[in-house]
Amino acid sequence: MKKIEHDTKLLLVDDRKENLVALEAIIDFPDISIYSATSGNEALGLMLEQNFALVLLDVQMPEMDGFEVAELMRRKEKTRYIPIIFITAISKEEQYIFKGYQAGAVDYLFKPIDPMVLKSKIRIFLELHRNKMELEKSRLEIEKQNKRLKEMSIRDGLTGLYNYRYFQELLNREFLLAKRNHSDLSCFMIDLDYFKDVNDTFGHTFGDYVLKNFAILTQEVTRKTDILCRYGGEEFVLLLPHTSLEGARILAEKFRQRAEKFHYIQKSHSKYVTISIGISSYLTHHPAMADELVNFADRALYRAKSSGRNNVKIFREEELIQSGTLSDSSSNHVSSSREQLKRIIDNSRESILTSLELFLQNTEQNTSSFTDINLNLKNDHKAMKIFDYMGERLGMPRALVHTFKRAIILHELFRVFIKDNTAQYNRPLNESEKKDIEDYPFMMEEMTRLFDIFADERTILRYHHENFDGSGYPEGLRGAEVPIGARLFSLVDAFVAMTSKRSYRPTLSSEEVIMELVEQAGIQFDPILVTHMLEVIEDRKLLLLESKRIHEAKKKVLEKAEAFNSFKEHHI
Ligand code: GH3
Ligand code: MG
Ligand code: MG
Repeated sequence: MKKIEHDTKLLLVDDRKENLVALEAIIDFPDISIYSATSGNEALGLMLEQNFALVLLDVQMPEMDGFEVAELMRRKEKTRYIPIIFITAISKEEQYIFKGYQAGAVDYLFKPIDPMVLKSKIRIFLELHRNKMELEKSRLEIEKQNKRLKEMSIRDGLTGLYNYRYFQELLNREFLLAKRNHSDLSCFMIDLDYFKDVNDTFGHTFGDYVLKNFAILTQEVTRKTDILCRYGGEEFVLLLPHTSLEGARILAEKFRQRAEKFHYIQKSHSKYVTISIGISSYLTHHPAMADELVNFADRALYRAKSSGRNNVKIFREEELIQSGTLSDSSSNHVSSSREQLKRIIDNSRESILTSLELFLQNTEQNTSSFTDINLNLKNDHKAMKIFDYMGERLGMPRALVHTFKRAIILHELFRVFIKDNTAQYNRPLNESEKKDIEDYPFMMEEMTRLFDIFADERTILRYHHENFDGSGYPEGLRGAEVPIGARLFSLVDAFVAMTSKRSYRPTLSSEEVIMELVEQAGIQFDPILVTHMLEVIEDRKLLLLESKRIHEAKKKVLEKAEAFNSFKEHHI
């Protein structure tokens, strides 16, 4: 009769067969499989093949005694943690017992064996073993989930393509490879033409539909080894390893024609969307740094746009000389080295953020707040877009906008570290909670200090809870005393909070949001920034409101701003 194999396995080791038979007769548990061995060597061999929950080990055996077996078990990873119950017929002297425990024994039984005692001991060990198995199972589950999280943090939600952040990593890797092997690497910067019109005419949902399908189209045109990313909004970047400029040009032209003929149809909406492509190649253009390759392609894209769109353009050497990269004058050399260093630092900032994010996602206690993190990442994403819009409106340098975006990410990551639950309270706070909350900006600043290269982001985090009228914390700064970055941060942060779903609070209606912005202009928010924000809201259709209503709100806020200015003039 074939024995059924159970998950829980027990190993009996005794040099005498009759002892083994006697033990087996006592251990009559239905749900375990019993293995036996008559020597230490045989036992060790079995232990390498099977996963035992427990070993009952005879101490007195010829050749290798039980203690030696235990000793050898402790040396192997696979057998190190298997619990042992030593069984011995003679000498109850302490030294033996001691030796047994030293070898890692977990229990000790003396012959003649009391069946009841033996069974109850075994039962306890098996129970422990089962718990361990359960834990192991959940650990694997968590690992699986982490992998999924990681996958999500490298991909763009809408198109499923790699996101901007992960692209930086891939870009650096491919650039190094090209450099090391003197192989070519071409880069496309691709932008959809007049995409704003698509949104304006057919709405964002159709716009999203176009983006999604464009991503699919792009995947059809490219090879498996090509690296395709959504660089931002309606911009895509494609890296082509081992592809020369000529090869890239032919592909880009094919691609452009293919896109031109692609008909996007959804319900009653239908539209053709053309694309513009800028190309750069490693062996032709000799970029010094990875992202210079992308910048070159970007510059070519710019020319493709200005020469009428639906165009492919290759980066030109003249543009290179204009930019000073190839110039041999020493001051230009210094400034280009500085540029390069700045870029290195920027890249390091990005990778630190990625590492921090992955670290947090991998910490077990955070997997329970899995959905929270997800939600926050989504909100971060939204906040970043708004920062882009505001940066564009205010004509801020790109580097500054990037600083803001990094501050957002740091803010979210540090919140998890310092267990800042401010956002969760929907009741009046007690004194100690208030004090805690006032400490958060300092704690965040302190954490930023750990990463000295985040000096710029630090100020933003320190002052992001200051209010325009001086009623905020931690220092009660007012008006222009609050650094502009922090003023902008608190406005965008508040806007995102008001317009995002949170489990404990329903989203405000568009009208409520606008009322809040008007009301808080001059109190919590810088009124001038609010007027810009209102324009961004209108331009980008961030709220479902008629332009008339937004203009009305803007007028009110402007009045407040003026009142504030004349107040200042009178008092200074
Ligand atoms: P150009 O030919 O010069 O590229 O003109 P454009 O209108 O395509 O360029 P612009 O950069 O002015 O506008 C890009 C638009 O893309 C603005 C924004 O609303 C839209 N957009 C960005 N991301 C998304 C998105 O995820 N979904 C949708 N539907 N639209 C987006
Ligand atoms: Mg465009
Ligand atoms: Mg664009």
